[in-house]
Amino acid sequence: MKYVLVTGGVVSGLGKGVTASSIGVVLKACGLRITSIKIDPYLNTDAGTMSPFEHGEVFVLDDGGEVDLDLGNYERFLDIKLTRDNNITTGKIYQSVIDKERKGEYLGKTVQVVPHITNAIQEWIERVAMIPVDGKEGPADVCVIELGGTIGDIESMPFIEALGQFSYRVGPGNFCLVHVSLVPVLNVVGEQELEDNVKEKLSQFCHVPAVNIVTLYDVSNIWRIPLLLRVRIAMVGKYTGLSDSYLSVLKALLHASVDCRRKLVVDWVASTDLEDSTAIEAPDAYKAAWNLLKGAHGILVPGGFGDRGVQGKILAAKYAREKNVPYLGICLGMQIAVVEFARHVMNLTDANSTEFDPNTKTPCVIFMPEGSKTHMGGTMRLGSRRTFFKVADCKSAKLYGNVPYVDERHRHRYEVNPDMVPEFENAGLQFVGKDDTGRRMEIIEIPNHRYFVGAQFHPEFKSRPSKPSPLFVGLVAAASGQLDRVLQDCCNGHVVPAKHHLSNGSYNSTVHQNGHPKMLANGLSNGTYYANGNGLHA
Ligand code: GLN
Repeated sequence: MKYVLVTGGVVSGLGKGVTASSIGVVLKACGLRITSIKIDPYLNTDAGTMSPFEHGEVFVLDDGGEVDLDLGNYERFLDIKLTRDNNITTGKIYQSVIDKERKGEYLGKTVQVVPHITNAIQEWIERVAMIPVDGKEGPADVCVIELGGTIGDIESMPFIEALGQFSYRVGPGNFCLVHVSLVPVLNVVGEQELEDNVKEKLSQFCHVPAVNIVTLYDVSNIWRIPLLLRVRIAMVGKYTGLSDSYLSVLKALLHASVDCRRKLVVDWVASTDLEDSTAIEAPDAYKAAWNLLKGAHGILVPGGFGDRGVQGKILAAKYAREKNVPYLGICLGMQIAVVEFARHVMNLTDANSTEFDPNTKTPCVIFMPEGSKTHMGGTMRLGSRRTFFKVADCKSAKLYGNVPYVDERHRHRYEVNPDMVPEFENAGLQFVGKDDTGRRMEIIEIPNHRYFVGAQFHPEFKSRPSKPSPLFVGLVAAASGQLDRVLQDCCNGHVVPAKHHLSNGSYNSTVHQNGHPKMLANGLSNGTYYANGNGLHA
């Protein structure tokens, strides 16, 4: 059994309960079974005698328990059935200790807060955590414990002491503390995302790595909170029926998500479904595909061959560019982005790759083999080639740690037409990485976009769990609102973003008091992720 403790600071009513429930939802989505305990440090035995005007509604459980309304949130969010003992109060704990004392069970000892009350709390938690609440047999995997009130309340103190002992008792790797606090913003009206300097300061004062500090701003609907803790990437490809077709790309996304401490959700979008013809032939599929694309926090167009689905990929790149949605185009995905840019930004309406239209008047992607120009066989540019950064102040150079060049693997025949490069650059498309001759375009970027990056090479092949591919980290970081921090980390000398995290012990390390993302990360490193859309799971 693993325990996640959620505590609160500064003031009550911060949304601790919703945060705890949301963590439960995210862990459940990772395939874990969840139970929960709510601790209310007040002296009432239960909520039954409390005025709803003072404490909110009295929630009623199956077993007749009258409990705090937070248990209702847990039942709804996690679809579980809790028992009255899942709500611990000071009244209940003292009652049980005093009952035992009256029966002489303490054998003449002086009964004290430490150890008798604190032991009773720990035993209660361990006993109740084992009760299955999801209709299945056997105990859950994770128990989310919410401590009501705020740190500093006199009534909470025995619980804080007990939970401190408890974390020691269950051992490292089994206990994780999430502290929900208010960060007041005094000079502006309303809320603000936590700025990096604020995170740094918090980090210094409470010994929590800045990377473990997560902003949870107000949302219109509490059901959206779990969404703030995960990442949705739309994968726009051809072989969406078989996830193995993109195995390395998926693994690279997974490595990057672990690095960014986000739960990865991949939405498979068949590129043909985005095309106008599908709107007429299969309107439901068309609508579903666009809904997935529009719901994504980031869009990835992987490599591919042949012209089927190309139009849909162009529409996906256009959508990402226009709507400022993070985009990563790999190989064909980069070529697509270039064609899209030519057509819709530079008004070269017939721009195309000669792979799809050999007779196009505006060939912006052309056949550029390293060997024979006439034969298809053996004409691919294959394997490791060097890319030199031509622009230092760009996202990809920073993500790679400001190195002068990178070696990545290739598998393609076509490339951006080098004669059109000045035209593209005038229109705002940057070619930030090129080969040693300067004739082969390797990395593109749109500078004023949140993250619009294309690579002629396949960065996925060199991604490792401990060393995620920088361009994938960029995508996932941008999709989860962390790109500024990641870029800053890279510039501060953390050459590979993952290294920085590694030094904080994010992989297979013991989970200590720094919060839930670690536990998510550990779940992910076991290879768990969700693939929606076609219901593919891997
Ligand atoms: N079909 C394109 C080419 O040959 C892209 C290849 C790929 O995406 N791997 O250049």
